[in-house]
Order: sequence, then structure tokens, then C-alpha cells
Amino acid sequence: MTRWRFAAATDTGLVRDANEDALSVDATLAIVADGMGGHAAGEVASSLAVEVITRQFHENETVDGLYAAVETANLAVLTDAVANPERFGMGTTIIAIALTEDAAGIVSPTLVNVGDSRVYQLRDGALRQLSDDHSVAEEWVRMGRLTPEEAAVHPRRHQLTRVLGMDDVVEIDVVSVVAQPGDRLLLCSDGLSNELTPEQLVQLASPPMPLEDAVDKLVAAAREAGGRDNITVVLVEFDEVVATMTPVKKTVSTAPPAIAAPRTTRRRSSRFTWRVAIAVLVLIGVAAGFVAIMHWYAYSTYYLADDSGSIAVYQGQPNGVLWFSPHKVLDTTFPSAHLLPSDQRLLAATISEPSLNSALNYASYLNQLWHSSRSVAVASTTTTTTTTATTTTIATTTTKAKG
Ligand code: MG
Repeated sequence: MTRWRFAAATDTGLVRDANEDALSVDATLAIVADGMGGHAAGEVASSLAVEVITRQFHENETVDGLYAAVETANLAVLTDAVANPERFGMGTTIIAIALTEDAAGIVSPTLVNVGDSRVYQLRDGALRQLSDDHSVAEEWVRMGRLTPEEAAVHPRRHQLTRVLGMDDVVEIDVVSVVAQPGDRLLLCSDGLSNELTPEQLVQLASPPMPLEDAVDKLVAAAREAGGRDNITVVLVEFDEVVATMTPVKKTVSTAPPAIAAPRTTRRRSSRFTWRVAIAVLVLIGVAAGFVAIMHWYAYSTYYLADDSGSIAVYQGQPNGVLWFSPHKVLDTTFPSAHLLPSDQRLLAATISEPSLNSALNYASYLNQLWHSSRSVAVASTTTTTTTTATTTTIATTTTKAKG
């Protein structure tokens, strides 16, 4: 059996008008919450979260029950803020240690954390922070961007990266705590940890200082150091500890709220459908544009080619483009053989023309060239014959004269 004793205190401090911290501690659960938000909203957020977690955890004192209780508290704060616009933007940190029962029936401490409230372990005069701060500066320390010393004075050390009540999904650190009899756990809001050094915490919170005296001295010391924020302290000491059979260390992200889930699913489904539809339309548009350009290019020209012995005019690219093959537009009826040899070779390789008219004109021109060449050849033969006859006559005449 794991058991603890406890003491707790909370104080408004010296600067704030109200105490926005909240706490609860009993035989199996210790919680500290640090609320934020104007017009008393911070008080509502922290007290509501503590109330919901306490009630729900005691209905199911397991790790899952603890996690679910924090999830419910998150939605409770969020729902309250939505229902009460004057509390819009409120939120709260939460740090809790619970004695949870595992499947084997063993009860052991489990930590849950959202925000920058802390839990320290005090053992043998040493102090160890068990929780991670969910602040910008501390996240940067874990990323290696800042040293702990730089983070301690960084202007974004108070800017939180996780808070209950801000979103319907929240990440929760869930960690099994390895404890032994005599260990003390100190849960506190930043009103304590910002005011006191680790050395002061060890000095004031460690045994043999009685628990009640320790919490009083811690609060008093924080006030003395300035008391610039609300101060909340819960101190527990383990009398008996049994190690858990199933230690846990994880960060879990809550699911969207059950009531909103169908709407969210529909919205995501709808958004998905629209995205797909738009993507499909864009793809169809691109494909149609591509096909149109290819069609235009494929049939934007004409060419002359031999078709079974006559000159034909084709529309298209001689070798085709994609699946657009050229097709015959008309037959000029000019025999392919009625071209000059050089033009016949050109025709065999196809002769491109920009339009149907120019193709027809060129076919006609080539045919005329052939006819012209034929006329010249006939005329040339006739002239040669005449010249020969004349020469003969002259020769004959000459012969006669000599005779
Ligand atoms: Mg605070």
C-alpha cells in the first residue's frame, strides 16, 4: 500500500488583488492550479479544474481515470468560457500527483502536468524538479536553444505553451513517480518557485520540518521575497510506498470533445471533400488545357505527301503528336511522277505548309515546274534539229559552189 501525509497553504501574495490559484489535497490526490484571465475568470478556471479533476478521479483512481479527469476539466473550463463571454480567454495550469491503481492492484504515485506549476521531489536533502515547465523559454531549453540560466531570465519564461481551457485538445504529461518512504513531493504555483531559490526550497520543505510548518514557512518566505504572485503550496510525505508494476511516462494529447466530435468529423470530412473536389477540378483543367494545346499544335500545319502516286494534302504533323494522327484533307490529282526529280525527293520527305491554300498552291507550282521543264525540253529539241538542217543546207550550198 502506498500512503502519504500532507499539508497545504495558499496565499494571495502582496501585489495581486485576488487569489487565482486553487488547490485540493486528500488521501489519494494532490492538485495545484494557477488560473489566468481577467474579471475573476482565472479564479473560475482554476477552481473549476480542481473541482472536476477531484470529482472525476475519485470515480476511477487509475492512470486512465486521472488522464480522463484532466481531459474533462479542460473541456469544462473551455465550455464555461464559451458560455460566459466575459470569461473568454481564461485558462489554468494544473499539476497533480495521484495515487493510482494499476491492473495488478498496486497503488503508486502518478504525476499529470499542464503548464508551469511544478512538482519537486525532496529526498536526502536534495531537490529535483519532476515536472517539465510548458513555457516558451523552457521548451527552448529542452530544444537546446537556451541554457537553463538564460531561460531563468528570458522574457518569454512566463509565456505558456500549454494551458487547460484554451483549446478542445490539450497535451498532458503523464508520468509515474518513483517514490520511497520519507520522500516529500512539493507541488506549487509559480508564485512560490519564482520567489525562492532551490536552496531555500530544500531548507524550508525538507524533513525534519513538520509538513504544516514547512508550508507556512514556504508561503511566508515567498511573501518576504516580494510576493508578486499568488502563492500555493502542497507538500506530501510518503509513509509507505509500493513500486508500480507498470510505470508510465508519456505525453498524451486529448481527443476532441465527444459532443463536438461528429461536427468536427463532418467539418473535416466536408473540408476534405472540398479540397479533393478543387484538386480534381484543377487537375481536369490542367489536363484539358494540355490536350487543347497538343490538339492545336498537332493540327496547326499541313503537308504534301505522295498518296498512291498522286500528291495529297494532309493536315497534322507528319509523325503525329501523342494520339493525334495526321489525316488526308484532299487529293490534288497531280501525279507524283509529274514532279522534277528533286521535288519528288522533297515530296517523299513531305513538304510542310502553314495552310491548306498554300499547300494547294505549292502542289500546283511544283506540277507547273514539271510541265515547264517539259516544254523547255521539247522546244530545245526542235531548235537543235532546225539548226542542223540549216547547216546541212549551207554545207550543201558550199559544196555546190566549189563544184
Ligand atoms: Mg502564478
